[in-house]
Amino acid sequence: MTRVVRTRAELRDALATAARPVGVVPTMGWLHAGHRSLMRQARAENATTVVTIFVNPRQFGDPRDLEQYPRNEARDVSICEEEGVDLVFAPGVEEVYPPGFDTVIHVGAIAAPLEGAARPGHFDGVATVVAILLDLVGAERAYFGQKDAQQVLVVGQMARDLAIRTAVIACPTVREADGLALSSRNVHLDPRERAAAPVLHRALVAAREAWRSGERSGDRLRATMAATLAAEPLAQPDYVSVADVATLRELDVVDRPALLSLAVRFGSTRLIDNEPIG
Ligand code: AMP
Repeated sequence: MTRVVRTRAELRDALATAARPVGVVPTMGWLHAGHRSLMRQARAENATTVVTIFVNPRQFGDPRDLEQYPRNEARDVSICEEEGVDLVFAPGVEEVYPPGFDTVIHVGAIAAPLEGAARPGHFDGVATVVAILLDLVGAERAYFGQKDAQQVLVVGQMARDLAIRTAVIACPTVREADGLALSSRNVHLDPRERAAAPVLHRALVAAREAWRSGERSGDRLRATMAATLAAEPLAQPDYVSVADVATLRELDVVDRPALLSLAVRFGSTRLIDNEPIG
């Protein structure tokens, strides 16, 4: 049975008797197969699995994006039941940010480019809420999706710097059969946009194949992704990147492990994806 708790006190009580080690999967709900794979890995590696469901207002720049973010807690809890999750922490906003809350965790260089540049304040919100959630749960391990590759790096930096004891673990991206990475935001795509959206993965694969064939120019690999996106009229690229996989600095020459990444808008829906190489 999955137990659902909403307050810090209930969470503390439930965890006091929980079998160790504990694995936690932080989410914003509207759970899908990507989240399920994180839960499965957490379950395989820990005696107790906790899922947090919290749509974090502080990581949304655009109030409309926050308002439109899909929510269905009953469905989410039944997915957690199916995956054998022991505990769901689904707090309200004031339980996470009590009145008078006035602290921001700002991660430095790793949070600056890509999503950090495109969405000012986003990673402040992510780092702040993840620090709170990791502290409240006190798990041995926390599971994050490689789909949000920069988020994994930002959370890892924050956890090291703040001496958080929870190990940050990255899990592979789960995709639809046509290559589209699963995302709660995919629900906003209309049928034409949904049909066009696999172009993100195709662009990454085209650049990866060029790299495999020996291409080492960052500019030419970025151009390969841009050209693939340009062939899809509904895709409005936000950025394409070929960066050092550890620092996310753009590379002129791909002479080390790198991250291919991109962000693309389809109407008002913004999708991201990435592929490590090397
Ligand atoms: P979200 O609910 O979108 O904040 O995502 C919660 C966690 O699930 C994050 O660590 C995401 O990176 C991860 N996640 C989201 N989509 C996927 C996916 N397609 N494959 C693997 N992990 C994912």
